This record gives sequence, structure tokens and C-alpha cells, in this order.
Amino acid sequence: MRAEKKITIIGAGLAGALLAILLARKGWTVEVFERRPDPRLAGYEGGRSINLALAERGLHALRLAGLTEAVMAQAVMMRGRMVHSADGGTQLLRYGKDDSEVIWSVHRGRLNISLLDAAEAAGATIRFNARLDRVDFNAKTFRLINDHDRRDEVRDFAVLIGADGAGSALRQAMSGKVALNEHFAPLGHGYKELEIPPADDGGFRIEPNALHIWPRGGYMCIALPNTEKTFTVTLFLPNEGDPSFATLPDVAAAHAFFARDFADTLPLVPEFDADWTNNPIGSLSTLYLDHWHLDGRAVLLGDAAHAMVPFHGQGMNCAFEDCIALARHIEEAGNWAEAFAAFEAERRPNAEAIQAMALENYVEMRDRVDDVDFLLQRQLERVLAERHPGRFVPRYTMVSFMRVPYATAFERGKIQRQLLIDATRGLRDIAQVDLEAADDMVRTRLSSLVTTS
Ligand code: FAD
Repeated sequence: MRAEKKITIIGAGLAGALLAILLARKGWTVEVFERRPDPRLAGYEGGRSINLALAERGLHALRLAGLTEAVMAQAVMMRGRMVHSADGGTQLLRYGKDDSEVIWSVHRGRLNISLLDAAEAAGATIRFNARLDRVDFNAKTFRLINDHDRRDEVRDFAVLIGADGAGSALRQAMSGKVALNEHFAPLGHGYKELEIPPADDGGFRIEPNALHIWPRGGYMCIALPNTEKTFTVTLFLPNEGDPSFATLPDVAAAHAFFARDFADTLPLVPEFDADWTNNPIGSLSTLYLDHWHLDGRAVLLGDAAHAMVPFHGQGMNCAFEDCIALARHIEEAGNWAEAFAAFEAERRPNAEAIQAMALENYVEMRDRVDDVDFLLQRQLERVLAERHPGRFVPRYTMVSFMRVPYATAFERGKIQRQLLIDATRGLRDIAQVDLEAADDMVRTRLSSLVTTS
């Protein structure tokens, strides 16, 4: 493998840039091709989700890349979910036990730029305005197109790594050679972004250290803070039915909908009409594939392999974990096919687990966070986590504050959820729970959790 040292990465988004850092630092020759212009010169053409929730898995990757300080200097801490009920009441539901268990809101564009700078500093070369168009896997060549001047060029490769996102052109090319069995499962809900500007005194208009949620049953708004003292609000709403994006054909209808269902959000968004009109409706799907690699010639990772709905805030975190795993398998394996197969065997079950948890979390966020049974179960979850450290670990904690494999978090989460339902059935108050019986359930149903650091 070292004889063919050149590694070609398609896509210099979050995963592609991080992988370039990890591999270049190990002495590989890394070239990256990105369809967009260089964001450091042209400004960031994000296109979607201005900010992202960064959790332990992503933080771990940034530590390995030596970027923690640069990124965390621009991050806003989020302690928990600030739930805004329809009656205007608010309640903070902490994510973890204290401020050691929090997530962080980071700016997508700035994070991407930090990763690009570090990738170049590590020795990777990045070519912008270079869109992968097609691949000849037999000749081991690929064609790039510059979308600005329409010039194209053909280059050769030793191995291709697809970090080119949900609409991956490399995946498309691979599907002509291997039965990927691509399946995009649409959520049936879309999203639209709005902005809460700073207050008149320059500060935040609402509590900065929280991820705000306005749950409304079949739909919701969320808001994540930015260092500029703004919040990016995202409305998640069905595409069809009532209410839906289909029943909001114009800004007047959207305004009336917000006045009815998000009455306390609307005054926070003074540019509502412009935001609604100018920002597109984003679509949300889960991508499933039967294979992620074409023998030793090409492999996919991040959204190109397993795009997911954003409700666990783990798409990037998971993509970063992919990068660490792939870099490790490339170092350890005897040949490319072995490395890619081992990578897929390790990561695909975990990606499928977080995809499933992300779908479940949508229902929890929009419909359950202000539900009485759910709140009682959450209270008991806390109590049991304290009584059984290392054995009863809340699923959110396993996903967001630890690096337990997602598949393990998913399986243990199912057992724990059933246990909480059984222990609180018919009850209204935590004082009514038979804790000794609950302790017995924990001991018989859960082994202690083995963690890696
Ligand atoms: P991308 O970030 O999509 O990068 C792909 C790159 O490839 C881009 O730069 C693109 O220009 C380039 N490219 C595409 N096609 C080509 C081509 N043919 N040739 C060359 N280059 C190409 N994740 C979290 O962890 N936390 C969150 O809070 C979170 N919130 C989200 C909110 C929303 C609304 C959405 C939609 C997603 C969210 N995600 C979140 C998920 C996260 O955005 C993705 O999982 C992450 O961006 C995946 O990184 P990636 O590098 O695989 O793909």
C-alpha cells in the first residue's frame, strides 16, 4: 500500500478535510478535490444548517487533529433542551449530570475552514472548483469539471475515498460496478431556517446555553446559539397534510401559522418575512447502502455512505468517527481491499444504529419532551444512573458524551427504555416508584458497560 502512497479524497467538507489531516499526518500523500470554491477566498457556500451540535465523538476527532482550541474558542455551550410549551412556559431539561456533560454549537463554515487550514498545514493538497464527474475504474482515472469555467481534466488515482456528501458522485459511479442497493428513505418532513438577531443591547435574546425546542406534536422549531449572539432557528414540518409546507404557500400563511403555533418565537424573528421568502425548504432522508466499498479501489464515508436525519445532532460526529476508523484501518491492513472491508464491517452497523436513533429522536423532540410519562421516565433514568454508574447509563449520555459504539448504545437503550416503562407504569410521581424493584431490574437486565477511552 505504501508503494501506492497517493490517496485521493473527493469532497473537502467536514469529513473529507478531517480525513486529509489524519492521513497526511501519517505520511500519506493526500490530494482532495472539492466542487465548491475555496471558502477562505470566496466566503462559505454552506447551503444548509449554519450551525451544528458538536458532541464527544466529534470533539475526540478534533483533539486528534489538534484543533480543539481553535474550534472551541468559537463554540457556544448547550447544557440541555430548553423546552418552550405552547402556553409560553419554559423548562430546561439537562442533557447530562452537570456541565461536564454538555454539547456545543459550532459554526459549520468556520469549522470547515479550520479543518482545511489544518489539512494543508499537514501537507494535503486541496483543489477547489473541482467536481468529480465520472470515474473509469478499469483505467483508474477520473474526470473533474470546474463548474465556473466549464474546463475539465482527467487524472489517475490509486484509491478514491468518497467524502462528497449525501448526493455523492463517487457513489453514483461505484453503483455501476457493485450492487450498492441504494435506498433513500425520505422522512416526509422538510426544514426551513430563520434567524433570531442579537438583542438591542448586543446580547442574546434568549438563554444562550441551551438548545431551544418548541415541540408541537407533529412538528417543531429548534434554535441553536451562535457566537455572534444570534440563533439559527429551524422549523421542521411535514411536506404534506395540515399543517405542512404545502399548506403554507406564501409568507402571509407562514406568518399566520407562526402567530398561532409559535407565538413566542415570532417576535424573536424580526426578519421573518425575508427569511421565509429567501431560505429554501431543505429535504431530509436516511440513506441505506448494502456496500460501502468497491474492492480496494474506492470507499465511501460520512453522508456519502449513511446520510441521516439531523435529530440526534450526530451526522458530523459520526462522519468524524468514520474518518478515525478509516485512517486506522488503512494503517493496519495489508492491502486496500482489506482496509476498506474492515472499515465497513466496523462502521456500517454503527451507522445504521445512529440512523435509527436519529429517527426516534425526532418523535421524542417534537412530541414527547413535554409529556408527563416521558418526564417521569427521565426523572427515574437520572436516579437509576446515579444508583448504578457504569451499568445504567442513559442512551443520550452513551451517544453524546461517550464513544461507546452506537450499536451498543442502541441495544442497551432499548432495554433501559422498557425498564423505565415497567418501573413507572401507572405512576405519576417519582416518590411512588419501587426503587428496590427497579434496582433488581437493572441488575438482571443490564451487564456493566465496558468502555474504551
Ligand atoms: P458534507 O458536509 O455534505 O460535505 C461534502 C463535500 O463534498 C461538500 O464540501 C461538497 O461541496 C463536496 N462535493 C459534493 N459533490 C462533490 C463532487 N462531485 N466533487 C467534489 N466535491 C463534491 N450533524 C451533527 O453532527 N450535528 C448537528 O447538529 C447537525 N445538524 C444538522 C442539521 C441539518 C439541517 C442538516 C441537514 C444536517 C445536520 N448535521 C448535523 C449533519 C451534518 O451536516 C452531516 O452529517 C455532515 O455535514 C457530513 O459531512 P460530510 O463531509 O460527509 O458531507
